[in-house]
Amino acid sequence: MDHEALRIWSKRAADWAADYHASLRDRPVRAPLDPGAVARKLPPSPPETAEPMERIWADFQAIVPDGMTHWQHPRFFAYFPANAAPASMLAEQLVNAMACNALIWQTSPAATEIEQVMVDWLRQALGLPEGFVGTIHDSATNATLSAVLTMRERALGWRGLDEGLSGAPALRFYASAETHSSVDKAIRVAGIGQRNLVKVPTDATRAMTGAALAAAIAADRAAGLVPAGVILCAGGTSVGAFDRIADCVAVAQAEGLPTHVDAAWAGSAMICPEFRPLWAGVEGADSIVFNPHKWLGAQFDCSVQFLKDPGAQVRTLGLRPTYLETAGREEIVNFNEWTVPLGRRFRALKLWFVLRAYGLDGLRQRIRDHVRWAVAARDRLAALPGVEIVTEPRLSLFSFALETDAATEALLQRINDDGRVYLTQSRVDGRFVIRVQVGSFDCREEDVMLLSKTVQEMLASCSSGPLPSR
Ligand SMILES: *Cc1c(COP(=O)(O)O)cnc(C)c1O
Repeated sequence: MDHEALRIWSKRAADWAADYHASLRDRPVRAPLDPGAVARKLPPSPPETAEPMERIWADFQAIVPDGMTHWQHPRFFAYFPANAAPASMLAEQLVNAMACNALIWQTSPAATEIEQVMVDWLRQALGLPEGFVGTIHDSATNATLSAVLTMRERALGWRGLDEGLSGAPALRFYASAETHSSVDKAIRVAGIGQRNLVKVPTDATRAMTGAALAAAIAADRAAGLVPAGVILCAGGTSVGAFDRIADCVAVAQAEGLPTHVDAAWAGSAMICPEFRPLWAGVEGADSIVFNPHKWLGAQFDCSVQFLKDPGAQVRTLGLRPTYLETAGREEIVNFNEWTVPLGRRFRALKLWFVLRAYGLDGLRQRIRDHVRWAVAARDRLAALPGVEIVTEPRLSLFSFALETDAATEALLQRINDDGRVYLTQSRVDGRFVIRVQVGSFDCREEDVMLLSKTVQEMLASCSSGPLPSR
């Protein structure tokens, strides 16, 4: 395949993409497949000779779309969204065409400089004060890992990088049990050890309070352990928990500890001023991560980390061997020094397109609609016999259950086998619950109403017979 063929095929791909999106409401959200069903359709060995694009295209159409769970489906109510606004997809096409590696400024000045400006646009959009700068990671997992590594090195006086950890004291980190597993992963990968991540008890609203945090730190200090950092939850993945950010930041500051706030999902909602009380005090944090690739429409991957003092993170992660130097340009920013991987995609272009093509007003309108419709769906579900709302809507996320875990699990399976909507599960105080989050970019009110209708129908079918076997 050459570039002239690419011209033709990319036009076909664009038409296919438009048709695909137009057809989504008619497709089951989740791929109704058994494991191995897709792999069995591929030859076991690679081709020795070139194949015509016609045949590759035909196989793509025959095998791939039906093997996908459609994340851009308007009735995707599972996990959290991974929204791709049309303007984002267009920007990614252009990025694809240029296929750069934005590892340092010189390897694509536009990628670095648009990234700097977009991070600042988002800082303003979220109502964060001047002074925060930042970078774009692939995922919140890597942003949190970067923050944890930085907090570790701060606590070790930057000796861990050189000496390793074997002679170092055990460092202690603090987070609530509502924080995402990416925090546990960062703690493990950073050599801190899971047992040194203190899961601070939460209050009745699933929030870590300043008092509980202070007590955990005091207990560690009394035991001769070394507190090193605090990770705060702003919109937990399970049921949307928020720590008391202002109180916890005040405690951390009084203890001389840095803070990292995980707002991977809920951060997008902070473009709406009325939701900002949920994370009040966030301006005191040292590091904040949020994923425009979840709820804002700039597709995966696009995870923004705001930093008050990038120097500490660059000191931890930055390396500048001779082959990465830029002669006579000491003032430039080389973003690979802010992140774990060296190579980096040009992720800022889609933010530039999305923020301009919808405007903050257009994006706010979507998030406000989603929150309002989630509350409406909660009310409809609450009215169904046997349904109990287990956690009330936090932004656009709530959970419900039937009387027993077995009944709830059976209902969830029926809902997802039906295919019109897709929901996933969590556990709340040990109880199996069905999570509902409203957040798909193309979601309309009628899609959310079809959610409650589907649950109602599946409930009726549960009480009228055993699960059909698939
Ligand atoms: C989704 C999510 C993450 C992980 O995000 P990735 O970008 O997939 O690494 C972390 N924290 C919270 C609260 C999340 O919702």
